[in-house]
Amino acid sequence: MEIQQAVLEQFRAPFVFRSVDVSPGKDEVLVRVRATGICGRDRVIWKGGFRGFRLPAVLGHEFVGELDGKPVGVYPVVTCGTCEACRSGQENLCIHGAEIYGEQRPGGYATGVVVPRALVFDLPDDRFEAYAAALCPVATALHAARLAGVTPGMRVLVTGAGGGVGVHMVQVLRGMGAEVVALTSPSKADFLTSFGVEVVTARRFRKAVGRVDVVFENVGRETLNESLMTLRPQGTLILVGNVSGAPLELLRPALSIMREHRLVGSAAYTRKEFEEAARWIGEQRVRPVYEAFPLMSINDVYRALERRAIRGRAVLLP
Ligand SMILES: [Zn+2]
Repeated sequence: MEIQQAVLEQFRAPFVFRSVDVSPGKDEVLVRVRATGICGRDRVIWKGGFRGFRLPAVLGHEFVGELDGKPVGVYPVVTCGTCEACRSGQENLCIHGAEIYGEQRPGGYATGVVVPRALVFDLPDDRFEAYAAALCPVATALHAARLAGVTPGMRVLVTGAGGGVGVHMVQVLRGMGAEVVALTSPSKADFLTSFGVEVVTARRFRKAVGRVDVVFENVGRETLNESLMTLRPQGTLILVGNVSGAPLELLRPALSIMREHRLVGSAAYTRKEFEEAARWIGEQRVRPVYEAFPLMSINDVYRALERRAIRGRAVLLP
């Protein structure tokens, strides 16, 4: 079968369209792609931010599509299945170098992707754009919330709340009964308020936020220190992302020592959480936020993302 792929041949260069012939091997299937989300991670790869990343590559781990006429999702990670992490359902921590569709294997910036049948699962319905936009962010939020031990009534801060991850994370945390403070830029404030969260836009946000039990740090370097000042004694800061990739610096280490802060990294999500995210979207417990574009216009979309001109996820439609 012939499929079309948008191929990244050089970092920071436009994607190039290629036709390739694919034939699924034993225990593999060809999923016909119907929509693919552009993850922040894809953009880090595009910029050359992952050391040792091999080109050419077909990016995109956030794809959904059809198999035998049914709507399906694909857990985009191939893990060893035998290490202790994999055996205990924590395959996000697989020690044997997991392979990811859209990285080491050709991904969803394409009209089709060949994957092992075992990674495919049924979607609750065929709102392809919604699933492509929100599966990865909602699963990321579910995992991070679990690491933090979020319970109803907790007051939590989400930084980068207007971004593709943040806008879905605030909804998940609200859905879990948390009292959410969303930190974002002034241009996205009104929009976020519509999700029933408290919105803060100050650069120095410590006073406006007050005291929180948990911080979900999606920005990293620019907000980390101010975030820690809002965190209660023995509170937890979950490090979900560090957008600039630059080193993090603790400006007031004594504060975190005296308050016994916990800093916990959050690594993606497990397969179970990925499928759980599909149920959250299917039951409309979150409202996916995205703008959709034809796959053919991917180079324009990447430019628009650099200008921060897209609200929520950008979704590509083959
Ligand atoms: Zn993603």
